[in-house]
Amino acid sequence: MRYTQSKEQSAEVLRAALGHLGQHDAALNPWSFTVWYEHAAGINARLSRAIEECLRTEPRLGDATIARLYRDHVSEVDEAAMQRVSGEFQRVMSGMAESAARTGDTAGSFGQQLDGLTQALRAEQSPGLGPLLGRVISQATEMKDSADALQQQVLASRQEIERLRQDLSRARDDALIDPLTRVVNRKGFDQKLQAMLDQAPEAGRTHGLVMLDIDRFKSVNDTYGHVMGDRVLQAVAEVLRAAVSDPTHTVARYGGEEFAMLLPQCTLDSATALALTARDRVKAMAVRDRRTQRVMLSVTISAGVTTLHAGDGPSSLIVRADSALYAAKQAGRDRVHNA
Ligand code: GH3
Ligand code: MG
Ligand code: MG
Repeated sequence: MRYTQSKEQSAEVLRAALGHLGQHDAALNPWSFTVWYEHAAGINARLSRAIEECLRTEPRLGDATIARLYRDHVSEVDEAAMQRVSGEFQRVMSGMAESAARTGDTAGSFGQQLDGLTQALRAEQSPGLGPLLGRVISQATEMKDSADALQQQVLASRQEIERLRQDLSRARDDALIDPLTRVVNRKGFDQKLQAMLDQAPEAGRTHGLVMLDIDRFKSVNDTYGHVMGDRVLQAVAEVLRAAVSDPTHTVARYGGEEFAMLLPQCTLDSATALALTARDRVKAMAVRDRRTQRVMLSVTISAGVTTLHAGDGPSSLIVRADSALYAAKQAGRDRVHNA
């Protein structure tokens, strides 16, 4: 594990990291946070050396430098580990907020007690004690004020950390989405495929995989250019996503002009029917010129469908779906084969 500090140690590191965050110009986002955390914890020597190097020419590190430091020296950290770390910070901060609140309460009731004592003593006509106790009370009030300020500060930090945590989780989700088509990317596909295989099919069900590939896509690029090619990819992805109505099913961009559907708890028949619907809808789709609305082109897809066999792992399932796809291409394209 990358982060092995105890809660107490990490609280120290957190304070140091917050100090660095404040001193530099980069935005307070998860990247700068992680850079400074790892530097302050002394757990990433390469990063610390690079920071020293940067500080020679840039005393207050800005966004570009932090982004570069993160990319070059931190980013191999897996997102789940980052999520755990920021969860840990959250706990540290809420612990600090509680203890500050307790300090404030204690100081407050201490002041009230002393106040009462002063009044009692005044009533007893003890003139020497009154002013002395008055000073003690004002000190106790100051103590409470500063504890309140501390509590406010900690609460604000906690909110900031919560925001950072949300940013991080958004960044983690984004890392699994293909930016062009907005469907799950290859990394997300791999994760979801593994999750599907980890789950046993219910009685009478199986898990399905459909691989889909746009037919003769190279000629779309060659004829209409890559910009139009990209638009076709987006449109096909949209059609596939709309064809899949079960929220547990996933459409992914497997790579290039190849897509996949992960269909947990389905049957071979339902998977094949879904692939046929997708094929029909893509074929019916017309890509229009944005300006004139004239239909410019249409495309077809071929698909290979398979379901889980005993002893299957991710690769054997993909290979079988791929060979069904290959058979569909060989048989003339614009068709669905299963295996
Ligand atoms: P087939 O029917 O056998 O699948 O023929 P094909 O032309 O679709 O297959 P081929 O593998 O020869 O070509 C795939 C093309 O997809 C080539 C590549 O330039 C294009 N492509 C892959 N990714 C993208 C992308 O992100 N944008 C665009 N515009 N084109 C892409
Ligand atoms: Mg193709
Ligand atoms: Mg292809």
